[in-house]
Amino acid sequence: MSTPQCRLCGHELTVTFVDLGMSPPCESYVAGEAADAGEMFYPLHVRVCEECLLVQLPTYVAAEDIFTDYAYFSSYSTSWVQHAKDYVDLARKRLSLDGSSFIVEVASNDGYLLQHAVAAGIRSAGIEPAANVAEAARAKGIDTTVAFLGERTGREFATTHGQADLVVANNVFAHVPDIVDFAKGLRALLADDGTLTIEIPHLLRLIEGREYDTIYHEHFSYLSLLTTQCVLEAAGLRVVDVEELTTHGGSLRTWSMPIESADAPSERVAEVLAAEAEAGLHTLEGHIGFSEAVAAARNDLVEFLVECSRKGATVAGYGAPGKGNTLLNHCGVRTDQLRFTVDRNPMKQGMLLPGTRIPIHAPERLEQERPDYILILPWNLRTEIAEQLAYTREWGAQLVVPLPHLEIF
Ligand SMILES: [Zn+2]
Repeated sequence: MSTPQCRLCGHELTVTFVDLGMSPPCESYVAGEAADAGEMFYPLHVRVCEECLLVQLPTYVAAEDIFTDYAYFSSYSTSWVQHAKDYVDLARKRLSLDGSSFIVEVASNDGYLLQHAVAAGIRSAGIEPAANVAEAARAKGIDTTVAFLGERTGREFATTHGQADLVVANNVFAHVPDIVDFAKGLRALLADDGTLTIEIPHLLRLIEGREYDTIYHEHFSYLSLLTTQCVLEAAGLRVVDVEELTTHGGSLRTWSMPIESADAPSERVAEVLAAEAEAGLHTLEGHIGFSEAVAAARNDLVEFLVECSRKGATVAGYGAPGKGNTLLNHCGVRTDQLRFTVDRNPMKQGMLLPGTRIPIHAPERLEQERPDYILILPWNLRTEIAEQLAYTREWGAQLVVPLPHLEIF
């Protein structure tokens, strides 16, 4: 087997960050009628480059197989739409955008963000790889081009549309296999005095919060501010400011400009870099302990499920998020230990979780089955979900979160 190479610097990837074994793509829910068919499993073996420190998953599943008919519509999440509106308001003020400005969003989804720019009278256009999602954006009157961004498509787009004063790339930077070509595409879209903002889950938060269930095949790069700077610099861009956000378990929003027109980096850039250095993220050695932390988390969950099985206690799940599939597959959980899960999304009800084949039911099933324990899979929403599940206390159910530490409450 050939050694995979770093997608940033080309160095051979010989150091493991964490190896979660084999897993199907986390959004590949199995329809009931396909229950007798096989499923493809791919490695979830994350490496860290000893040369540039980029934490990354080799491209085991092609992006074209995942994103071209992506079922996720951002507008389903009201909190995400509000996040986008707040962002547009901030960017308008900060960059003094007006009727003569031009905003381009990459991975613009169904127009959840650009609709706010359009409402403010700013010319806007989106680039979105999933045709069905792009169609939803067009229906809202948002000029949307179906494409994967790279240097070539970025140049073509700039030729037909003009260069942008603001380019936005939220939660897409970590999801592209060829991150350098993508960054060059971003640069090509941008005017020479333009601004680029990107939002990425912060590797520092992933490690501190043991959020290993945010590792999945579509998530190719796990970025620190340091490695983000390296990728952007390879495309002629410089980070001038950064904000720390609470979204997606802890994210960074970087503000960048073409190197030739960029201001000096802000104090906040220095602060985030200092926090990363303090946590060991600027050395190879600092990345080595994560495998042990993940193994400890798995041992605790498996031990709990085995205990329940031994004493005859029943366990059901709550939620069917993609992250739950990384966790359950890594822990080897099957229906003997987790009989079913429930989800409010009717599209998922009646389906089976990929790999583990745990059935997904409507939430009413909890009331009927009255399990002794309920494992909350979107554990980052534990407070909100515990409130929704208050009625299960009636039959003495206890709630369980698997991470960052197993907790029964
Ligand atoms: Zn590298």
